[in-house]
Amino acid sequence: MAQHEHVRVAVIGSGFGGLGAAVRLRREGITDFLVLERADAVGGTWRDNSYPGCACDVPSHLYSFSFAPNPDWPRTFSGQEHIRAYLEHVADTFGLRPHIRLNHEVTVMRWDNDELHWVIETANGSTITADTVVSATGPLSDPKLPDIPGLADFPGKVFHSARWDHDYDLSGKRVAVIGTGASAIQIVPEIQPKAGRLTLFQRTPPWVMPRMDRAISGAEKWLHRALPFTATARRGLLWGIRELQVGAFTKHPNQLGLVETIAKSNMARAIKDPALRAKLTPSYRIGCKRILLSNAYYPALAQPNVDVITSGLSEVRGSTLVGSDGTETEADVIILGTGFHVTDMPIATRVVGADGITLAESWKDEMQALRGATAAGFPNFMTIIGPNTGLGNSSMILMIESQLNYLADYMRQLDVLGGRAALDARPAAVGAWNRRVQDRMRRTVWNTGGCTSWYLDDNGRNTTVWPGTTAEFRRATRSVDLGEYDVVRPSVTRSAAQAVAEEAAR
Ligand code: NAP
Repeated sequence: MAQHEHVRVAVIGSGFGGLGAAVRLRREGITDFLVLERADAVGGTWRDNSYPGCACDVPSHLYSFSFAPNPDWPRTFSGQEHIRAYLEHVADTFGLRPHIRLNHEVTVMRWDNDELHWVIETANGSTITADTVVSATGPLSDPKLPDIPGLADFPGKVFHSARWDHDYDLSGKRVAVIGTGASAIQIVPEIQPKAGRLTLFQRTPPWVMPRMDRAISGAEKWLHRALPFTATARRGLLWGIRELQVGAFTKHPNQLGLVETIAKSNMARAIKDPALRAKLTPSYRIGCKRILLSNAYYPALAQPNVDVITSGLSEVRGSTLVGSDGTETEADVIILGTGFHVTDMPIATRVVGADGITLAESWKDEMQALRGATAAGFPNFMTIIGPNTGLGNSSMILMIESQLNYLADYMRQLDVLGGRAALDARPAAVGAWNRRVQDRMRRTVWNTGGCTSWYLDDNGRNTTVWPGTTAEFRRATRSVDLGEYDVVRPSVTRSAAQAVAEEAAR
């Protein structure tokens, strides 16, 4: 028989979600786990996105684990290299290295109904079995390359923002940037001074607010080190301000009109040409797409070596880029700031559940998971940053930590059940959760704001964002409600509540 390794838990991915899960498992006393990472280093999206200017739009004291505060954040909004270093530090500090298997890309995971475990195969030929899988591959991990006729035959250089080619020198080149999302607007100001000519293909103008970034002073760092409660208080303040904003996004989008005024004056300060201002002014409610922060984007667009084409890229003919409005632009290099596969989570095609269908097939109409974590027919399988756990205005680390609470209780419940057992989300519970989420979604700015965005799937449903406060999600994920699960034992399935009652009666 082929030899393989068995662990209690396999965590897939080593970004914030995967490393956070690993720390939480250790804190729960579980050491029999592995973290499988496809790349050769930890860090997830903060490892992959190394484009010039890459930084986080959420203040660092909030965009970090509550259990691993960092008094030394250099800036209020720290850059990619500092966030990546922080994640390396977390892996070291919490003793995670022995658990991490780098260069282990999961190619398929199948649930074995007889053995009640997952059989995980990796690209390097190893097979690992695990009682429970925590999928922490993240929504921003697989670049979305646009399907543009002729792009494959472009004679120059093409790369995606998340796969930056640091060896390619942009000096004096005719550079085309496709997209105006959070990545592109950070890239443009960094490369504009170098480029001979920069052409920005803007399909939809973003709303851009001023960025209140500054260096964190030595005195502040000293204070946070000497009196850690001051860092906690700072985090609490950053969190509280964002919680107060949630209602405007979820219930009263009209209140966001005031914010549009600030964004418009941010543009007017840098863009004096009324024709360019008109091109850059969005026609949808602010917040419908992610609100972007930059003090450098508009000044860069006002420079004489920059053109803004107000249409998408629709075709490439040799070195000529054709916009959907028919404009033609010559380019030496194309930078694709075209985002990620979010609503069609690629890992889902590699997960085969109890009925032999993939998670992607089970989600073909709509991606949905109980409390953002578990899907019916996929026992002992949990997604970190699963469906409807994204945020429009606050730190995803808060949502991840809520999901880690849920994971910890899930593991405790399995312990309580004892023996060989698995928990499978009941279809009715998943459906009821999803209906509640979608009901609340109806009034939100993401659904009513008059834009299309990566928050919406091909059917126009918002399967990515959480329509509430982070505190509400924290409450919803505090513990596992066994009434929402079936217990699977070898050859029998019954409701979890019934199984626990039977266990107690013994
Ligand atoms: P994105 O927000 O999905 O933006 C993709 C852009 O590509 C959009 O502007 C889209 O236009 C455009 N696009 C796609 N196909 C096109 C075509 N054929 N022609 C022209 N434009 C085209 O991707 P992203 O900028 O990488 O950001 C993704 C997410 O990552 C962000 O929303 C954020 O959550 C995170 N992120 C955060 C930061 C930060 O904290 N500062 C930085 C980077 C990324 P449409 O708008 O018309 O669809």
